[in-house]
Amino acid sequence: MTTKAGTLPPASEQGDATYSDAAFYHVTVTADDEQVVVGSGVALSETSADGQQTIELAIGPARDFYLAISPRYEVVSRTVGETTINSYAPAEFMAGAEDAAAFATDALRLFNERFEPYPYTELDIVATSTLALGIEYPGIIAITLHEYDPDDPVNPNVPNQIYMETTTAHEVAHQWFYNMVGNDQLDEPWLDEAVTQYATYLYYLDMYGEQAANEYKGSWNGRFSRVDNEPIPIGLPVSAYQGAEYSAIIYGRGSCSWKRSPGRWSKPLLTPSSRITSANTNGASSAPKPSANWRKRTVSAIWKICLKNGYISDQIAILDIANL
Ligand SMILES: [Zn+2]
Repeated sequence: MTTKAGTLPPASEQGDATYSDAAFYHVTVTADDEQVVVGSGVALSETSADGQQTIELAIGPARDFYLAISPRYEVVSRTVGETTINSYAPAEFMAGAEDAAAFATDALRLFNERFEPYPYTELDIVATSTLALGIEYPGIIAITLHEYDPDDPVNPNVPNQIYMETTTAHEVAHQWFYNMVGNDQLDEPWLDEAVTQYATYLYYLDMYGEQAANEYKGSWNGRFSRVDNEPIPIGLPVSAYQGAEYSAIIYGRGSCSWKRSPGRWSKPLLTPSSRITSANTNGASSAPKPSANWRKRTVSAIWKICLKNGYISDQIAILDIANL
Protein backbone atom coordinates (compact mmCIF):
# COMPACT_ATOMS: atom_id res chain seq x y z
CA MET A 1 0.00 0.00 0.00
CA THR A 2 1.28 3.47 -0.82
CA THR A 3 0.05 6.59 0.93
CA LYS A 4 0.36 9.83 -1.02
CA ALA A 5 1.96 12.81 0.70
CA GLY A 6 -0.70 15.07 2.12
CA THR A 7 -3.11 12.24 2.90
CA LEU A 8 -1.17 10.63 5.72
CA PRO A 9 -3.33 9.56 8.65
CA PRO A 10 -2.30 10.72 12.13
CA ALA A 11 0.70 8.76 13.37
CA SER A 12 0.03 5.99 15.86
CA GLU A 13 1.36 6.58 19.36
CA GLN A 14 3.51 3.47 19.02
CA GLY A 15 5.47 1.99 16.18
CA ASP A 16 6.85 3.87 13.22
CA ALA A 17 5.24 7.02 11.89
CA THR A 18 6.16 6.73 8.21
CA TYR A 19 7.58 4.43 5.58
CA SER A 20 9.16 5.26 2.25
CA ASP A 21 10.74 3.78 -0.81
CA ALA A 22 14.51 4.20 -1.08
CA ALA A 23 15.80 7.50 -2.44
CA PHE A 24 18.88 9.69 -2.51
CA TYR A 25 18.84 12.57 -0.03
CA HIS A 26 20.86 15.78 -0.41
CA VAL A 27 20.06 18.12 2.47
CA THR A 28 21.51 21.52 3.44
CA VAL A 29 21.10 22.51 7.10
CA THR A 30 21.75 25.98 8.56
CA ALA A 31 21.98 26.25 12.34
CA ASP A 32 23.62 28.35 15.03
CA ASP A 33 27.34 27.65 15.39
CA GLU A 34 26.98 26.19 18.90
CA GLN A 35 24.68 23.43 17.69
CA VAL A 36 26.04 19.97 16.95
CA VAL A 37 24.22 18.76 13.85
CA VAL A 38 23.99 14.98 13.39
CA GLY A 39 22.18 13.56 10.39
CA SER A 40 21.80 10.60 8.08
CA GLY A 41 24.77 10.16 5.75
CA VAL A 42 27.95 12.19 5.60
CA ALA A 43 28.76 15.90 5.50
CA LEU A 44 29.88 16.92 2.01
CA SER A 45 30.74 20.46 3.11
CA GLU A 46 30.67 22.58 6.26
CA THR A 47 30.97 26.38 6.32
CA SER A 48 30.46 29.04 8.98
CA ALA A 49 29.65 32.77 8.76
CA ASP A 50 28.08 35.33 11.09
CA GLY A 51 27.57 32.79 13.86
CA GLN A 52 25.76 30.35 11.60
CA GLN A 53 27.00 27.08 10.21
CA THR A 54 25.81 25.48 6.99
CA ILE A 55 26.22 21.75 6.51
CA GLU A 56 25.52 19.83 3.30
CA LEU A 57 24.56 16.20 3.98
CA ALA A 58 24.02 13.29 1.59
CA ILE A 59 22.89 9.68 1.88
CA GLY A 60 21.46 7.08 -0.46
CA PRO A 61 19.83 4.84 -1.30
CA ALA A 62 17.95 5.30 1.97
CA ARG A 63 14.37 5.07 3.24
CA ASP A 64 14.37 8.29 5.19
CA PHE A 65 16.47 11.21 6.39
CA TYR A 66 16.88 12.03 10.07
CA LEU A 67 18.45 14.92 11.96
CA ALA A 68 19.29 15.33 15.65
CA ILE A 69 20.61 18.72 16.79
CA SER A 70 21.82 19.73 20.24
CA PRO A 71 24.39 22.16 21.66
CA ARG A 72 25.18 19.56 24.33
CA TYR A 73 26.34 16.70 22.12
CA GLU A 74 29.88 15.38 22.41
CA VAL A 75 31.12 12.45 20.38
CA VAL A 76 33.23 9.29 20.56
CA SER A 77 34.13 7.44 17.37
CA ARG A 78 35.14 3.96 16.32
CA THR A 79 35.87 2.28 13.00
CA VAL A 80 34.63 -0.96 11.47
CA GLY A 81 36.15 -1.60 8.05
CA GLU A 82 35.34 1.47 5.94
CA THR A 83 32.60 2.67 8.31
CA THR A 84 33.06 5.27 11.07
CA ILE A 85 30.73 4.92 14.06
CA ASN A 86 30.03 8.24 15.83
CA SER A 87 28.25 8.05 19.19
CA TYR A 88 26.78 11.36 20.47
CA ALA A 89 25.48 12.23 23.93
CA PRO A 90 25.59 15.12 26.41
CA ALA A 91 28.93 15.31 28.29
CA GLU A 92 27.58 13.77 31.50
CA PHE A 93 26.44 10.66 29.59
CA MET A 94 29.62 9.87 27.66
CA ALA A 95 30.09 6.56 29.50
CA GLY A 96 26.83 5.45 27.86
CA ALA A 97 27.99 6.85 24.54
CA GLU A 98 31.17 4.75 24.85
CA ASP A 99 29.06 1.66 25.57
CA ALA A 100 26.80 2.34 22.59
CA ALA A 101 29.83 2.79 20.31
CA ALA A 102 31.37 -0.47 21.54
CA PHE A 103 28.16 -2.47 21.11
CA ALA A 104 27.54 -0.95 17.68
CA THR A 105 31.08 -1.86 16.65
CA ASP A 106 30.47 -5.53 17.48
CA ALA A 107 27.01 -5.55 15.92
CA LEU A 108 28.16 -3.92 12.68
CA ARG A 109 31.10 -6.30 12.37
CA LEU A 110 28.97 -9.38 12.99
CA PHE A 111 26.10 -8.32 10.72
CA ASN A 112 28.58 -7.39 7.99
CA GLU A 113 29.71 -11.01 8.11
CA ARG A 114 26.23 -12.55 8.51
CA PHE A 115 24.36 -10.46 5.93
CA GLU A 116 25.48 -8.02 3.27
CA PRO A 117 28.12 -5.40 4.13
CA TYR A 118 26.69 -2.20 5.64
CA PRO A 119 26.49 0.17 2.65
CA TYR A 120 27.46 3.54 4.17
CA THR A 121 30.70 5.07 5.40
CA GLU A 122 29.08 6.42 8.59
CA LEU A 123 26.80 5.12 11.31
CA ASP A 124 25.73 7.65 13.94
CA ILE A 125 24.18 7.01 17.35
CA VAL A 126 22.41 9.84 19.18
CA ALA A 127 20.99 10.01 22.70
CA THR A 128 17.52 11.57 22.52
CA SER A 129 14.40 11.94 24.63
CA THR A 130 12.52 9.37 22.51
CA LEU A 131 9.75 7.47 24.29
CA ALA A 132 10.94 4.24 22.64
CA LEU A 133 14.07 2.43 23.78
CA GLY A 134 15.53 3.11 20.36
CA ILE A 135 14.46 4.08 16.85
CA GLU A 136 16.11 3.24 13.56
CA TYR A 137 16.80 5.62 10.72
CA PRO A 138 19.10 5.19 7.71
CA GLY A 139 22.68 5.60 8.84
CA ILE A 140 21.66 6.83 12.28
CA ILE A 141 19.97 5.39 15.34
CA ALA A 142 18.40 7.19 18.29
CA ILE A 143 18.56 5.72 21.79
CA THR A 144 16.60 6.92 24.80
CA LEU A 145 18.48 9.08 27.32
CA HIS A 146 17.25 6.72 30.06
CA GLU A 147 19.75 4.11 28.84
CA TYR A 148 22.56 6.61 29.47
CA ASP A 149 21.34 8.02 32.80
CA PRO A 150 22.15 5.95 35.91
CA ASP A 151 19.94 8.28 37.98
CA ASP A 152 16.89 7.82 35.75
CA PRO A 153 17.27 4.35 34.19
CA VAL A 154 14.83 2.40 32.04
CA ASN A 155 14.40 -0.15 34.83
CA PRO A 156 15.99 0.30 38.27
CA ASN A 157 16.33 -3.47 38.60
CA VAL A 158 18.31 -3.96 35.39
CA PRO A 159 21.70 -2.34 34.62
CA ASN A 160 21.47 0.22 31.83
CA GLN A 161 24.25 -1.59 29.96
CA ILE A 162 21.93 -4.58 29.44
CA TYR A 163 19.34 -2.39 27.78
CA MET A 164 22.00 -0.47 25.86
CA GLU A 165 23.45 -3.63 24.34
CA THR A 166 20.10 -5.08 23.27
CA THR A 167 18.82 -1.76 21.93
CA THR A 168 22.02 -1.02 20.03
CA ALA A 169 22.22 -4.48 18.43
CA HIS A 170 18.51 -4.29 17.51
CA GLU A 171 18.72 -0.83 15.95
CA VAL A 172 21.93 -1.66 14.08
CA ALA A 173 20.18 -4.77 12.66
CA HIS A 174 17.43 -2.49 11.36
CA GLN A 175 20.00 -1.01 8.96
CA TRP A 176 19.52 -4.29 7.08
CA PHE A 177 15.86 -5.03 7.89
CA TYR A 178 13.94 -1.80 7.28
CA ASN A 179 16.52 0.15 5.32
CA MET A 180 18.23 -2.29 2.94
CA VAL A 181 15.30 -4.76 2.92
CA GLY A 182 12.35 -2.43 3.19
CA ASN A 183 8.76 -3.09 4.18
CA ASP A 184 5.62 -1.12 4.93
CA GLN A 185 6.27 -0.39 8.59
CA LEU A 186 2.80 1.05 9.16
CA ASP A 187 0.78 -1.83 7.73
CA GLU A 188 3.21 -4.72 8.32
CA PRO A 189 5.39 -3.66 11.25
CA TRP A 190 6.15 -7.21 12.32
CA LEU A 191 8.11 -7.95 9.16
CA ASP A 192 11.11 -5.81 10.02
CA GLU A 193 10.68 -5.89 13.80
CA ALA A 194 10.49 -9.64 14.24
CA VAL A 195 13.31 -10.41 11.85
CA THR A 196 15.37 -7.70 13.55
CA GLN A 197 14.70 -9.38 16.88
CA TYR A 198 16.00 -12.60 15.32
CA ALA A 199 19.10 -10.78 14.07
CA THR A 200 19.62 -9.55 17.64
CA TYR A 201 19.46 -13.17 18.76
CA LEU A 202 22.20 -13.94 16.22
CA TYR A 203 24.27 -11.09 17.70
CA TYR A 204 24.09 -12.70 21.15
CA LEU A 205 24.80 -16.11 19.65
CA ASP A 206 27.92 -14.88 17.88
CA MET A 207 29.14 -12.75 20.78
CA TYR A 208 28.46 -14.97 23.78
CA GLY A 209 27.19 -18.37 22.67
CA GLU A 210 23.99 -20.33 22.88
CA GLN A 211 23.16 -19.84 26.54
CA ALA A 212 23.26 -16.05 26.36
CA ALA A 213 21.35 -16.11 23.08
CA ASN A 214 18.63 -18.28 24.62
CA GLU A 215 18.39 -15.95 27.60
CA TYR A 216 17.82 -13.09 25.19
CA LYS A 217 15.15 -15.14 23.38
CA GLY A 218 13.40 -15.50 26.71
CA SER A 219 12.53 -11.81 26.48
CA TRP A 220 10.30 -12.58 23.48
CA ASN A 221 8.20 -14.99 25.52
CA GLY A 222 8.15 -12.42 28.29
CA ARG A 223 6.69 -9.84 25.95
CA PHE A 224 4.11 -12.28 24.54
CA SER A 225 3.03 -13.20 28.07
CA ARG A 226 2.02 -9.57 28.65
CA VAL A 227 -1.16 -10.39 26.70
CA ASP A 228 -1.40 -13.85 28.31
CA ASN A 229 -0.15 -15.46 25.09
CA GLU A 230 -3.40 -14.47 23.39
CA PRO A 231 -3.04 -15.55 19.72
CA ILE A 232 -3.58 -12.08 18.29
CA PRO A 233 -2.46 -12.03 14.61
CA ILE A 234 1.05 -10.74 14.03
CA GLY A 235 0.35 -9.34 10.55
CA LEU A 236 -1.86 -6.37 11.50
CA PRO A 237 -1.14 -2.64 10.98
CA VAL A 238 0.40 -0.65 13.83
CA SER A 239 -2.91 1.11 14.48
CA ALA A 240 -4.78 -2.19 15.02
CA TYR A 241 -2.94 -3.03 18.24
CA GLN A 242 -4.16 -1.60 21.52
CA GLY A 243 -2.05 -0.85 24.57
CA ALA A 244 0.37 -3.66 25.42
CA GLU A 245 -0.60 -5.67 22.32
CA TYR A 246 1.84 -3.95 19.98
CA SER A 247 4.98 -4.81 21.91
CA ALA A 248 3.69 -8.24 22.92
CA ILE A 249 2.69 -9.36 19.44
CA ILE A 250 5.13 -7.57 17.12
CA TYR A 251 8.29 -8.05 19.21
CA GLY A 252 7.17 -11.08 21.21
CA ARG A 253 4.91 -13.41 19.27
CA GLY A 254 6.33 -12.35 15.91
CA SER A 255 9.88 -13.07 17.04
CA CYS A 256 8.89 -16.45 18.49
CA SER A 257 7.77 -17.49 15.02
CA TRP A 258 11.37 -17.27 13.80
CA LYS A 259 12.58 -19.25 16.76
CA ARG A 260 10.36 -22.19 15.78
CA SER A 261 11.60 -22.47 12.24
CA PRO A 262 14.87 -20.63 11.74
CA GLY A 263 16.33 -23.30 9.45
CA ARG A 264 13.57 -22.81 6.91
CA TRP A 265 14.20 -19.14 6.38
CA SER A 266 17.72 -18.53 7.54
CA LYS A 267 19.37 -20.08 4.51
CA PRO A 268 17.84 -17.78 1.90
CA LEU A 269 18.09 -14.87 4.31
CA LEU A 270 21.69 -15.40 5.24
CA THR A 271 23.06 -16.41 1.86
CA PRO A 272 23.12 -13.26 -0.26
CA SER A 273 23.26 -13.73 -4.00
CA SER A 274 24.79 -10.36 -4.72
CA ARG A 275 26.64 -7.73 -2.79
CA ILE A 276 26.03 -4.06 -2.33
CA THR A 277 28.82 -2.00 -3.77
CA SER A 278 30.82 -0.34 -1.03
CA ALA A 279 29.85 3.23 -0.33
CA ASN A 280 32.07 5.82 -1.91
CA THR A 281 33.48 8.80 -0.05
CA ASN A 282 30.27 10.73 -0.54
CA GLY A 283 28.44 8.18 1.56
CA ALA A 284 26.29 7.18 -1.37
CA SER A 285 26.40 3.75 -2.92
CA SER A 286 27.64 3.74 -6.48
CA ALA A 287 25.15 0.98 -7.22
CA PRO A 288 21.57 2.31 -6.86
CA LYS A 289 20.05 -1.17 -7.31
CA PRO A 290 21.47 -3.11 -4.37
CA SER A 291 20.75 -6.74 -3.78
CA ALA A 292 17.43 -7.00 -5.57
CA ASN A 293 17.60 -10.77 -5.70
CA TRP A 294 18.60 -11.04 -2.07
CA ARG A 295 15.76 -8.76 -1.01
CA LYS A 296 13.23 -10.66 -3.09
CA ARG A 297 14.31 -14.04 -1.77
CA THR A 298 14.39 -12.73 1.78
CA VAL A 299 10.87 -11.32 1.71
CA SER A 300 9.57 -14.39 -0.13
CA ALA A 301 11.04 -16.63 2.54
CA ILE A 302 9.43 -14.56 5.29
CA TRP A 303 6.03 -14.71 3.59
CA LYS A 304 6.23 -18.47 3.14
CA ILE A 305 6.85 -18.94 6.85
CA CYS A 306 3.92 -16.64 7.62
CA LEU A 307 1.63 -18.59 5.35
CA LYS A 308 2.70 -21.95 6.69
CA ASN A 309 2.05 -20.82 10.24
CA GLY A 310 -1.25 -19.17 9.40
CA TYR A 311 -0.15 -15.72 10.51
CA ILE A 312 -1.58 -14.02 7.45
CA SER A 313 -4.29 -14.85 4.96
CA ASP A 314 -3.42 -16.55 1.67
CA GLN A 315 -5.06 -13.68 -0.18
CA ILE A 316 -2.82 -11.00 1.31
CA ALA A 317 0.31 -13.05 0.89
CA ILE A 318 -0.34 -13.71 -2.78
CA LEU A 319 -0.90 -10.02 -3.44
CA ASP A 320 2.29 -9.03 -1.70
CA ILE A 321 4.46 -11.65 -3.32
CA ALA A 322 3.10 -10.63 -6.72
CA ASN A 323 4.09 -7.05 -5.99
CA LEU A 324 7.69 -7.81 -5.16
ZN1 LIG B 1 12.84 -2.22 15.97
